[in-house]
Amino acid sequence: MADPEVTILCIEDEVQIRRFLRASLATQGYRLIEAATGRQGIAEAAARTPDIIILDLGLPDVDGLDITQELRALTRRPIIVLSARGQERDKVDALDAGADDYLTKPFSVAELLARIRVALRHADRSLAGAESESITIGELTIDHARHRVTVGDSEIRLTPTEFKLLFELARHAGRVLTPQHLLREVWGPAYLDRSHYLRIYMARIRGKIEKDPARPRYLLTEPGVGYRLADT
Ligand code: CA
Repeated sequence: MADPEVTILCIEDEVQIRRFLRASLATQGYRLIEAATGRQGIAEAAARTPDIIILDLGLPDVDGLDITQELRALTRRPIIVLSARGQERDKVDALDAGADDYLTKPFSVAELLARIRVALRHADRSLAGAESESITIGELTIDHARHRVTVGDSEIRLTPTEFKLLFELARHAGRVLTPQHLLREVWGPAYLDRSHYLRIYMARIRGKIEKDPARPRYLLTEPGVGYRLADT
């Protein structure tokens, strides 16, 4: 069961999806606030300070990108966006505007709960300011203080840029990061159009940390959206 204190705001106009969210989340012990329009969602977010927001990008009264920005200005808590298949661009724009993660409809209860857990864990970790700690995922350990990466007992030699890229993914482990986010954080704002850098560096890092780089265990590609480091 989830922490009973966790309140989730669901902003979604489709009755069936709201019903699905209610059924999936209430049985897990989450407290649920529902909003059927964007305006109502903004009002609830401001009045009731939810711990996490689930936001449909296809609302009748507001644009998905605008409402993501508006919510982000109101709260630092995680926002998970819901999008229909084929709305890759909307999803990426929402992530770049500050959303934390996304789910593509239709999604399962298991996926929904996993995304919520990752987002909440990440939010707590950022609040605790524990970003300089070492991060362990399966056999992979990334030690930020000592700039050291190991897989099992073997030390992996990474260049400073490879390390920076892997660490950026690791401190958001479980969350998808867009090319814009990674290029900005690792190379700087002048490099936002160099997405080929990412393909080259991801291949290099996979060659060093993955047993089978063609079928990565840690460094995952989310087609059309970005990259995600597995979180377990
Ligand atoms: Ca909708």
